Amino acid sequence: MFPLVRYFSLTSLIVFVLAFIVIFFGMSRNALNIIIGLREESNIALTRVYADTILNDYGEFIATAENMSAEEIMASDEFLALDADLRQLTQGSNIIKIKIYALNGLTIYSSEFDQIGEYKTDNSGFQAGLIGDVASELTYKDTFNAFEGNIEDIDIVESYVPLQSATTGEINGVIELYDDVTNLLSFVNQRIALAGTALATLFITLYAILYFIVRYAQKIMSQQRHQIEKHVGEIALANTNLQIANAQAKEATRLKSEFLSTMSHELRTPLNAIIGYSGIITSGIAGDVDERAQGMVKRIQDSGQHLLMLINNVLDISKIEAGRLTIVKDKTDIHELVASVEEQLQVLADEKSLTLNVDVSSAVPTYLMIDSERVKQIIINLLSNAIKFTEEGTVSLTVDWKDHRLDIDVSDTGIGIPAHSLDYIFDEFRQVDGSSTRTTGGTGLGLAIVRKFTEAMDGQVSVRSTLNQGTTFNVVIDAQALDILQIEPQTT
Ligand code: ADP
Repeated sequence: MFPLVRYFSLTSLIVFVLAFIVIFFGMSRNALNIIIGLREESNIALTRVYADTILNDYGEFIATAENMSAEEIMASDEFLALDADLRQLTQGSNIIKIKIYALNGLTIYSSEFDQIGEYKTDNSGFQAGLIGDVASELTYKDTFNAFEGNIEDIDIVESYVPLQSATTGEINGVIELYDDVTNLLSFVNQRIALAGTALATLFITLYAILYFIVRYAQKIMSQQRHQIEKHVGEIALANTNLQIANAQAKEATRLKSEFLSTMSHELRTPLNAIIGYSGIITSGIAGDVDERAQGMVKRIQDSGQHLLMLINNVLDISKIEAGRLTIVKDKTDIHELVASVEEQLQVLADEKSLTLNVDVSSAVPTYLMIDSERVKQIIINLLSNAIKFTEEGTVSLTVDWKDHRLDIDVSDTGIGIPAHSLDYIFDEFRQVDGSSTRTTGGTGLGLAIVRKFTEAMDGQVSVRSTLNQGTTFNVVIDAQALDILQIEPQTT
């Protein structure tokens, strides 16, 4: 059995049993009180009737008998006459015995003669009668000595009623009436038993209905609990799988970066030899080379340079992904840095007959604490892209100083970038034209490097572009300005 049903069964059973006991016994008590009340009223009425006869005919006897002995009382004529009268008066009624007490509590009359002469002075019923009240109680007797002789198994309502004069209101004694309520009580008890059975049936039905409702509710709850437990289990499993997949992905990324890093390093060594030696050959230091061979070696050198740039990019990206990117800030003459970049890229701009405008605002402090290598690479990547994707017009680089931040703008009058591509051009290996027929070279790593470097320097990069009109990249990075006279800059 589920706990809810068990708890319900126990508590509701207790509640129902208690309710039944309270209602049933309350009902019985009430019924008995009604019987006593009714019989008491009838006894009072009867006493009024008897009082007239008794006080008229035997008033004097009652007054004097209180000082007489039992034998004297029973020997008197009045006593026998009173006994006869009372027997006649009560004939056909429920009254089966009468006792009369004098004001001092002496029993001066009882249909059970043995009791004459007994004192009832301390009896509470007698005392109530003495002050004009009526006291009644219901009792059961195995055997009872009545007018008619002994009666077995009998229920009686005993009432102490003041023996009061109807005219003067004076109390002359107390009369005790014994009222046989056996039949009435058994009738009432039958009715109470019937009502009790009806009540019990009602409670049992109610209990059964509630029990089934609770059981049904319990069943639904249990189904829901199982479902929830199942879902929680599934979620936990999915979560574990996710964690495993995540760990595997991280490990794969780390291995990939490690591999790329090692490979790049291994590739750079022979490549540097190729570039270096081809440089020596084209410079003529190693001896004369004919023009045709010179052209070929020059192409080897250019291709080597290009390959080195690609490898450097891959190396940078793999370093970033492996979490090995560290920003090293040093005192940098930003004007000098820009001039060197301009010199480097002027050649490319000239090759395409583009105008390269470079403007460093006078607001830019001469010396800044920045990672010069990274800043330089950011500018180079943006400028070389601008030149690469512009066929005619101008490519501009402006450097400004705003709110203690270095503000770099690189704009061109080139092909522009479609709005939908702006979302992904900063992702690794993503290009607007990723097809094999594209005319421009590149790996799709330049902008990814720009973004990673910028973010590593707590900066932001943004882009605005209009198709076929041009593009502007903006990079803002925090930089600490250094006074020219400041001797040792703080390195972070
Ligand atoms: P790539 O090596 O292809 O240049 P980048 O990461 O530097 O890789 O750039 C990603 C892509 O963004 C480029 O392939 C190009 O489609 C687009 N792009 C970058 N800069 C410009 C620009 N100035 N004008 C037009 N398109 C650009």
